[in-house]
Amino acid sequence: MTTEYSAKVQNPYEIAKKQLEIAADYLGLESGIRKVLMHPARELTVSFPVQMDDGSIEVYTGFRIQHNLARGPAKGGIRYHSQVSLDEVRALSMWMTWKCAVVNIPFGGAKGGVIVDPKKLSKRELEHLTRRYTTEISLLIGPETDIPAPDVNTNSQTMAWIMDTYSMHKGYSVTAVVTGKPLNIGGAEGRNEATARGCQYIIREATKLKGMDLAKSTVVVQGFGNAGAIVARLLSEDSATIVGVSDSQGGIYNPKGLDVRAVMSFKGEHGTVVGFPGAQVVSNEALLELPCDILIPAALENQLNGDNAKRVKAKIIAEAANGPTNPDADKVFFERGIMVLPDILANAGGVTVSYFEWVQDLQSFFWTEAETNNRLQQIMVRSFNDVLRLAELHKVDMRTAAYILAVGRVAEATKTRGIYP
Ligand code: NAD
Repeated sequence: MTTEYSAKVQNPYEIAKKQLEIAADYLGLESGIRKVLMHPARELTVSFPVQMDDGSIEVYTGFRIQHNLARGPAKGGIRYHSQVSLDEVRALSMWMTWKCAVVNIPFGGAKGGVIVDPKKLSKRELEHLTRRYTTEISLLIGPETDIPAPDVNTNSQTMAWIMDTYSMHKGYSVTAVVTGKPLNIGGAEGRNEATARGCQYIIREATKLKGMDLAKSTVVVQGFGNAGAIVARLLSEDSATIVGVSDSQGGIYNPKGLDVRAVMSFKGEHGTVVGFPGAQVVSNEALLELPCDILIPAALENQLNGDNAKRVKAKIIAEAANGPTNPDADKVFFERGIMVLPDILANAGGVTVSYFEWVQDLQSFFWTEAETNNRLQQIMVRSFNDVLRLAELHKVDMRTAAYILAVGRVAEATKTRGIYP
């Protein structure tokens, strides 16, 4: 299966490489190190059979890619989606390398994915798919080598199946092989909310910097899953007004504000936010252009391009999703003075608390949620200020600054280790 890319929907791996080039130019990186960082270190493609409920056999294709291991074991989520492609997973693995480096946690970057529409599978079929995919990628994953986590359409149950499958092969329980697990098998308090909470901390810093009052701000969120729904809830707890949200079936808008908890239970019951009483229905395209102070893309890549970026009304864009803004849109936002809080900073709370979970599993010693949130806040605020300082120094946008910080750290680690043999 191949994915078609166009001017509007650009190849995410090409975007990722372009972003790396920009940072490498600022850093004056020598060509050898550039070449190392440009290429994923390991790529595994697997095709595997799953017996469906009706007895038939389907074959699925999946990937696990480790982009870079210079700063520690590889870390990154697993995505189930019909549009997953090799280039998408390459881009996502590279973004994971930079994300771990921005927040300075000792991991390299990885990502995995299976080409599947999970909504068409029963729970039993999904379990079998997950267990077989885990077995196929067990060549690469392990607590010291590569530690998966949830991403689009995977969750703590998926992680439990991965952990159990890996442990069955080993003959003993290896909780640290994945993060984002349920609490009763080595999960960490606060991990489920971590991506959203990290995003909330970054938004709080950005609104302070821009002299905006978060409690008087309006917010639109695209994507109402783990990242999007929880960040909407947390910001409404900060008294912000959530005026629009969406999922894969469309969006809803109420300029007076949505009751986020009520929208969450509506989605739980009906499988979508569309149809929520008292709100106008809007398309996902129109949602991005609604009047608001803060726009949070929390769905998929390639949502903001050079065209719709001209019509975005928000003052701050916080990327809970990975890769929602293409480089043409970045240029437009910079010229228009719109602050983009880049994915590798804004959604790094998830991997940061995944790191905490991994540390807790390795030590079999668990923290309270308050300890987790406190440590997360310290890391997010410090990282925001590290990126801001570089943005001011080089007079660049926050994305370029985050890349300069991250690529610089990974390049230094690579040079310190040297090239083997
Ligand atoms: P999820 O599966 O929990 O939720 C995804 C949401 O996006 C769903 O509500 C889905 O209906 C919606 N969606 C899908 N296609 C859409 C479209 N075209 N328009 C609008 N909405 C659409 O996934 P998630 O874990 O919340 O991940 C969302 C994004 O956040 C991804 O880019 C992911 O890589 C990123 N992210 C997630 C985590 C995490 O810890 N879960 C961490 C960092 C980054």
